Amino acid sequence: MTWETVIGLEIHVQLNTKSKIFSGSSTTFGAEPNTQASLIDLGMPGTLPVLNKGAVRNAIKFGLGINAELGRTNVFARKNYFYPDLPKGYQISQMELPIVGKGFIDITLDDGKTKRVNITRAHLEEDAGKSLHEDFSGQTGIDLNRAGTPLLEIVSEPDMRSAKEAVAYARAVHALIRYLDISDGNMAEGSMRCDCNVSIRQKGDEAFGTRREIKNVNSFKFIEKAINSEVEWQIDELESGRKIAQATVLYDVASNRTRAMRSKEEANDYRYFPDPDLLPVVLDEALIDEIRASLPELPAARRERFVSQYSLPEYDAGVLVSSRELAEFFEATVTAANGAAKQASNWIMGDILGALNRSEKEISESPVSPVQLGGLINRINDNTISGKIAKQVFQALWEGEGTSADDIIEKKGLKQESDSGAIEALIDEVIAANPDNVAAYRGGKDKLFGFFVGEVMKRSKGKANPGQVNEILKQKLAG
Ligand code: ADP
Ligand code: MG
Repeated sequence: MTWETVIGLEIHVQLNTKSKIFSGSSTTFGAEPNTQASLIDLGMPGTLPVLNKGAVRNAIKFGLGINAELGRTNVFARKNYFYPDLPKGYQISQMELPIVGKGFIDITLDDGKTKRVNITRAHLEEDAGKSLHEDFSGQTGIDLNRAGTPLLEIVSEPDMRSAKEAVAYARAVHALIRYLDISDGNMAEGSMRCDCNVSIRQKGDEAFGTRREIKNVNSFKFIEKAINSEVEWQIDELESGRKIAQATVLYDVASNRTRAMRSKEEANDYRYFPDPDLLPVVLDEALIDEIRASLPELPAARRERFVSQYSLPEYDAGVLVSSRELAEFFEATVTAANGAAKQASNWIMGDILGALNRSEKEISESPVSPVQLGGLINRINDNTISGKIAKQVFQALWEGEGTSADDIIEKKGLKQESDSGAIEALIDEVIAANPDNVAAYRGGKDKLFGFFVGEVMKRSKGKANPGQVNEILKQKLAG
């Protein structure tokens, strides 16, 4: 049987307004527990919420960024449930009339193709507090600092068909919120959290299977692993003749397995109703226009521009626009490399990203700057060094052994030998030292040509200009 995976994501993004959504109280990550809890967000008697305009602006930005219909009139509703980190007994959220309606985001897949993922809605809500299980044995601590910080919950259609697509979508949302500057998207700090809804069905079936929802996944790597492990489990269940029951599950990193938290029967009945303390929000057209005019160039437009302006393959462009910082790094490198865009792209996607990955660094922490990388590319293009020596120079730049490619080439004596007299002398040495191979080559064993090139390069310590070596060798070997 061939199974098809169906995935829809609900992504919670913490908006980077400096104050909470209904109390205006300030918030900083990592503050001492409960020092930033606000009486309004705890629902103390006699307090009233007031909507923070910054959160509304951020939501509008996002709506415009996904080409969505905006909820011209949107309404806050109470989502009622009991949990120790929610002392009010309800969360203020949006239900029937969210601020952002249907939109879409285009994702780039591994083969460079793009796929459209539809977004059902995005709504504003307040975050709850945090339960702390680690520091108290046999007890749970409650930190209410986070209660009331503004969230945007982004709900996708069940359009993804693999864990990889789900990750590509989550990355695209992450890139977009960072381009828009509405959230830092810091997953380790919980500024972006992802609920993954997963089901499977027979390939070709119209109807969806029953889904299970993996709660609060907090890294791209875990989104992929959690979904794959859940899919394996579901296939196993169905192929063993059992049925999938709708449930909420948690992903356990240590065992790489998902485990049920609650089933549908135990699911909450939230009894949503419009919050009587908050008026409906009516969006002002002038405000929307003002925000639209202030939007930066977004990933999709930038990808298209990279393809047309720099003649990059779709795949390169997709990778390079995946973060604002990376795109800016690329463009600065192209400028420093006198327009050598494809070379800049190759070095960044291969050498820079590879080295960053190995040292677990972000592009903003790259020890090699765009100006240094551009300078290195220039020295390849003016034949000062070969491509092979360039790798050595790059490594030295990465290790901080010099201030620029020129500096390292100078210090290490890596300048390419382009003096044809000197190259000829080396070739003569090689020919004299290998009479048998010369005879064999002249007798028709063409393959030996590579051997001679290798010997000459070795004697030059890799510094001979390869083009010249080839040319002069051919003449000399021809006799
Ligand atoms: P809820 O209110 O219970 O969270 P929704 O209908 O809002 O339910 O759906 C939540 C998410 O689940 C959405 O992202 C949606 O795309 C996704 N989803 C719905 N049905 C399925 C399914 N059968 N398989 C996978 N994902 C699904
Ligand atoms: Mg849900």
